[in-house]
Amino acid sequence: MSQSAPTHNSTVDDLVRDLVERRIRMHQIPSDLSAEEAAEVRRRALEEQASVSLDHMRRYSFDVDVASSRNCENLIGVAQVPIGIVGPVPVRGDTVEDEVYVPLATTEGALIASTNRGCAALRAAGGARVYVEDVGMTRAPVFRTSGIDESRRFVAWIEEHEDEIRDLARATSRFLELVSIRPFVFSTTVFVRFRFQSGDAMGMNMATIACDRIVTNLIEPSTGVHCTALSGNYCVDKKPAAVNFQEGRGKRLFAEVEIPAEVLSRTLKTNPADLVEVQYRKNLLGSIAAGSSGFNAHFANVLAGFFIATGQDLAHVVDGSTGVTFVEERPNGAAYFSVFLPTVPLGAIGGGTGLATQSEALKLLGVAVDPDRPGQAVMRLAEILAATVLAGELSLMAAFTSRDLASAHERLGRGPADATEG
Ligand code: ADP
Repeated sequence: MSQSAPTHNSTVDDLVRDLVERRIRMHQIPSDLSAEEAAEVRRRALEEQASVSLDHMRRYSFDVDVASSRNCENLIGVAQVPIGIVGPVPVRGDTVEDEVYVPLATTEGALIASTNRGCAALRAAGGARVYVEDVGMTRAPVFRTSGIDESRRFVAWIEEHEDEIRDLARATSRFLELVSIRPFVFSTTVFVRFRFQSGDAMGMNMATIACDRIVTNLIEPSTGVHCTALSGNYCVDKKPAAVNFQEGRGKRLFAEVEIPAEVLSRTLKTNPADLVEVQYRKNLLGSIAAGSSGFNAHFANVLAGFFIATGQDLAHVVDGSTGVTFVEERPNGAAYFSVFLPTVPLGAIGGGTGLATQSEALKLLGVAVDPDRPGQAVMRLAEILAATVLAGELSLMAAFTSRDLASAHERLGRGPADATEG
């Protein structure tokens, strides 16, 4: 629990008053108060101002000093999201060969139960074969030139100075390695898409810091070409994008399973032909009709649950939601089922991974950063995620074929009050 009593009561009362009467702003709490006390001052002011109780927001157990300095300014408390467990998820990858219980944080009733059913089918089918490529984190500053000739000279300069750029990136972090540089010229606009490997970290901050040094200390002074923005939206971060789909960003995940006919009918109440039909008409034609780049049923659901539980940047669900589900009928009556997620930013260190519940979740998954083997921990995390997405996708697709979607949500996704409706 968080409620350490404020030590300077009169000061705290005065500060609450100052906030309520708007003499100071939420970020102007004096720094001699602890982060804990500052949070209490903000909560009390808000409670008074809005005549509400924030009692649940003030019940937390993470380190407020760390959270308020690294994760969240103007901290007032916590948003609690229930965590359920699915599994064990049978993972057969290059890093993980194991059955793993996976925590998912969600408010969507039926998600855990459904994903769990997918896990049972994966276990009965011998496990999910997974493969993860560490394609690297990208950042693409955008530059402005005077025209075609300067754009060409600029790109040539970048290509000739790749080694210097690589050295500069290395100097910002021993975990950061420049993998490639890909310029993209748009007349007087040049995007330079840098791709980095970032060890166990998701790498967005590390890539941004490295790009800042590269642009400010080397490219601009050497070329005289102005950088308009450090992120030129050709990176692309937190937006669905064809360039990420084609080239990948963060981790690229593959997972597959061949489910025998008997498991299909017993565990999933389905058959290959119906799964293929739903895949074709819903995931493919439906997505084409809607202009969507998410040719899948619900990658985002499992990603969001996994991201909240393990401290990932939640906005990256947007990137992860693009991808394709594949279903094929096999001659032996089995169904081949697989998922492809081209762009999943993921970290086992940094971001929200060090917060109290998030770090417990990572331990539960057996994800521990080893300083001597950077990149291993995050690959374990990615392989487990790939198998869990496969389980969630499988179960929902089967639910469509057996017309079980609405009834599952009625049974599991509604409280007693709602369940009596209609
Ligand atoms: P990100 O770059 O993923 O947005 P941070 O800004 O928190 O996240 O950066 C990650 C931090 O973790 C960096 O300071 C980096 O030096 C540190 N770090 C420690 N161990 C590792 C590791 N094994 N892999 C990557 N980064 C690591």
